[in-house]
Amino acid sequence: MRAVDVIIKKRDGYELSNSEINRLINGYLTGEISDYQVSALLMAVFLNGFSSRETAALTKSMIASGRSLDLSYIPAKKVDKHSTGGVGDKISLILAPLVASCGVTVPMISGRGLGHTGGTLDKLQSIEGYKIYLSDNEIKSTLENCNYFMQGQSDDIVPADKKIYALRDVTGTVESIPLITASILSKKIAEGSNSLVMDIKCGSGAFMKDLESAKKLALSIKDTGRELGIEVAAVITKMDEPLGRTVGNFIEIKEVVEILKNERDNCLVDDEIELTLKLASKMLVLAGTAGSEEEARDIALMNLKNGNAYKYFLRNIEAQGGDIKSIEYPLKYKYSRDISAPKSGYLKKMDAYKIGKASVVIGCGRNRVEDDIDNQAGVEVFCKVGDRVSKGDTLLKIYYNRAESIEEAVSYCDSSLEISDQPIEITKNVLMEI
Ligand code: URA
Repeated sequence: MRAVDVIIKKRDGYELSNSEINRLINGYLTGEISDYQVSALLMAVFLNGFSSRETAALTKSMIASGRSLDLSYIPAKKVDKHSTGGVGDKISLILAPLVASCGVTVPMISGRGLGHTGGTLDKLQSIEGYKIYLSDNEIKSTLENCNYFMQGQSDDIVPADKKIYALRDVTGTVESIPLITASILSKKIAEGSNSLVMDIKCGSGAFMKDLESAKKLALSIKDTGRELGIEVAAVITKMDEPLGRTVGNFIEIKEVVEILKNERDNCLVDDEIELTLKLASKMLVLAGTAGSEEEARDIALMNLKNGNAYKYFLRNIEAQGGDIKSIEYPLKYKYSRDISAPKSGYLKKMDAYKIGKASVVIGCGRNRVEDDIDNQAGVEVFCKVGDRVSKGDTLLKIYYNRAESIEEAVSYCDSSLEISDQPIEITKNVLMEI
């Protein structure tokens, strides 16, 4: 069957066979099938969906597109976490060293920015010298040093995800449950994890805008995971406003450092620290390190507070070739622009989607596959939904180097804000556990 016939079959709403899915993935990797044909197929999947059998077949074929890591020399359970993507979502960068410092092995293959959301790999690459492609020996020595590694899909590990992920980013085909499921699980299975904690983001800044679709995604990842032999626990969390206080790449690394060094005031009411502890608790229970989430939370909090997690973070940077001095450098930007409160009242909304778009416009993300990102650009967030604000207060600050798109970014930021005369009721960050 020719590629175009497979595209037509999916376009017309029919199920593809496992061998048709395999043929497309293999053909794409060998170059026999072009970007434009795979783009068309992705759009057909986006519009017509995949059955659970097709989703599992796609996941398997993406895993088989490269080799899988063999971590069997580590007898204990390997546990990872993945987020479906948000704005200001730097949790993996805090969580991996934290859980590793509690004695759990965390292999982590992550992705770049996707759509309006940031990517762990882009953030890591803003650390000078940090290598996101490791040889097997480097993975082994990194794990010996600090119990965790972070790297990208590569030409030999889930290369199909590397190519398809980049294509989805620029073809409007990101928000698809089967494509997200296959993308995430292929990486997690190929990296050798036994268990996975999923943070399913839900809200304006997430790919799943409402609870119903977030639940469907959670179930798709859990069910496909079960079929392919990886245990998945999922939490659905709010993504209506940016997570934490920064959005970008290096600016987020600086926030991670601040949290790991315990430089935050009143850390226990902080949205991202609370979520980190929740996800860490689930990972520690899955790893068998703690018998309950309460016990696990105490262990994680202790390792955050006593600086152990920060030690593991620094060890990881060194083990992956990064320069630990560079994380203390100030952000390098030519210009900045304040976004102020247009009136006094209570912050009702800071639309995460619009802030994410603003960050892409100033260069934190890509519009085309080949675009270079500006890892020093970013947005600082000074206020959270529910806070009392006075007219003229700075609510956001944009740091940028590319002057040409600033007005578009400012307009995204201005229109992201809503201020109410009445106090706002704050809802919990964790919407549901599955
Ligand atoms: N994270 C991934 O790895 N893939 C997706 O498709 C979305 C989020």
